[in-house]
Amino acid sequence: MQGNISYDDVVFSVADILKRSETSLPHDVINALRTAKANESSPVAREQLEAILKNIDIASRKNIPICQDTGILIFFVDIGREARLDFNLEEAIAEGVRLATEKIPLRPNAVDPISRNNSGNNIGDGIPDIKYDLTEGNGIKITVAPKGAGSENMSTLKMLNPTETGEIRRFVLETVLKAGGKPCPPIVVGVGIGGSFDKAARLAKLALLEDTGKMDELERSILDDINSLGIGPMGLGGDTTALAVHVKKAFCHTASLPVAVNIQCWANRHASVTLGDGE
Ligand code: SF4
Repeated sequence: MQGNISYDDVVFSVADILKRSETSLPHDVINALRTAKANESSPVAREQLEAILKNIDIASRKNIPICQDTGILIFFVDIGREARLDFNLEEAIAEGVRLATEKIPLRPNAVDPISRNNSGNNIGDGIPDIKYDLTEGNGIKITVAPKGAGSENMSTLKMLNPTETGEIRRFVLETVLKAGGKPCPPIVVGVGIGGSFDKAARLAKLALLEDTGKMDELERSILDDINSLGIGPMGLGGDTTALAVHVKKAFCHTASLPVAVNIQCWANRHASVTLGDGE
C-alpha cells in the first residue's frame, strides 16, 4: 500500500520549518518581548530589549539566523494512528537537517561527546533528537525546536525528597539565580515535575513550546518570583528576567519527586508543519 506522505514531503518540510524557526520567532514570543520592553523601568534593560527586537527584525527581513548558535536540533513528531509511511522517517528528518545545514546555512554544532569530532552536518548518533507521540488521524505533525547551548547548559534536574513539594519553587528560583546572565535572558522556563528521571526532563523541554502569553496562576506566581530576582535582560539588571514559566506534570513513583528545569533563552525558536492530514 502506498503511503500518504512521501520521503520528499518530509525532507523539504523539515528544511522549511528549520528555516522558519532559525530566522524568525513565534508571534507570542515577539509579543512578550514587546510587552516586556513597554513595562521595563530600567533604561539599560529597555535598550537590551530594543536591541533584541531589532535583531529579530533584521534576521527575519534578511532571512538569516537570529543567533550564531543555531542550536542542536530537537524534533517532536506526532504520528496519526492511520498515517502510512513507506520510508524511514528518521532518515527523512535527518536529510532535511542536512539540507537545511547546507542551505540556510546552520552552524554545524553536533559533535561526538568524547572525541569532540564534529560531523559537519548537525547529524550524528542520536542526533537530531526525535521524540514520537501517537495521535489520532492520518497525518503527522513535525515540530522542531533548535536549542542553543548557552541556555541548555544552565538547565538542571533534581530528584527531590517526595515530601519536599514545597521545595519545587525554591529549586526553580535557585536554578535561575545560578544561571544569571549566561542563558541570554529574558528566558523562558520549562518545569517538568514528576514522571521519572528522563520523563521530567522531557516534560520541561515540551513546556518550552507552550504559548508564552498563556500561564496559569502557579506559573504566573513563579514568574513574578523570578522577575523579582532582578537579573534582567542579558543579565544587566531590570524587571524582565523571564518572559514565561510553563509547568508540565506527570504521575510519579510514590517514593520519588523528580523536578527538571529547562531554561530557554529569549530566542525561543520553534516551528511546526502538518503533513498528510485529511488526505
Ligand atoms: S543562549 Fe540563545 S541567544 Fe544566547 S547565544 Fe545561545 S542560542 Fe543565542
